[in-house]
Amino acid sequence: MLACAAALPVRGESSTPALKIVVAGGHPGDPECGCAGTIARYSDLGHNVVLLYLNRGEGFCGGASLGRCAAIRTAEAGKACQILKARAAFAGQYDGRAIVDAPRYEAFDRVLAAESPDVVFTQWPIDSHRDHRAVSMLTLDAWLKSGKRFALYYYEVAEDTMMFSPGEYVDISSVESRRRAACYAHASQQPDKWYPKQVEITRSRGAESGFPQAEAFLRHPESKRALLP
Ligand SMILES: [Zn+2]
Repeated sequence: MLACAAALPVRGESSTPALKIVVAGGHPGDPECGCAGTIARYSDLGHNVVLLYLNRGEGFCGGASLGRCAAIRTAEAGKACQILKARAAFAGQYDGRAIVDAPRYEAFDRVLAAESPDVVFTQWPIDSHRDHRAVSMLTLDAWLKSGKRFALYYYEVAEDTMMFSPGEYVDISSVESRRRAACYAHASQQPDKWYPKQVEITRSRGAESGFPQAEAFLRHPESKRALLP
């Protein structure tokens, strides 16, 4: 395993240009759950981070009526992005009804290509939620269509991700409070139910990599390496 978090240059101390980072997720809250610490560290270094959500969370928002969910969860995503100094973007699908077909491959590719990313993080294709698997397939297809132009990494989320063996780690210990706040911005998703599980994961990943808490990623074996924070 390669723990590369400590060895990479810090922007500002070198001539490293600002990168465009896209973190794709099946729902509002997924990029935050899996990557909020890494996102905070990227944005603190001056890189530009976009959280690209496949849908607006139309399918569930706690006790509120379904008709209000998209608005509630779009607002929650905006709050999380503010905490992480990132920008929210939406790919226009419907929560719980993800479609992976030729028109959606093309639509997702257009959204991603418009961001011109240097690095993309997406969900692991063997997740229990269909929308997570869908965003993973859509991202992979866009990466292949781009000629593997950007670096492609996979992330894990509490209770959904199966059979994940990461190879690279980011120390998130210094940004733990912002990571927590970004996850708790998704109040309608009852973060008490999943955030502690994700902390167990990042503590375990930290034990593997020598940090108090770490987020862990798997780079696609045919992807170029990215500058991780
Ligand atoms: Zn999700």
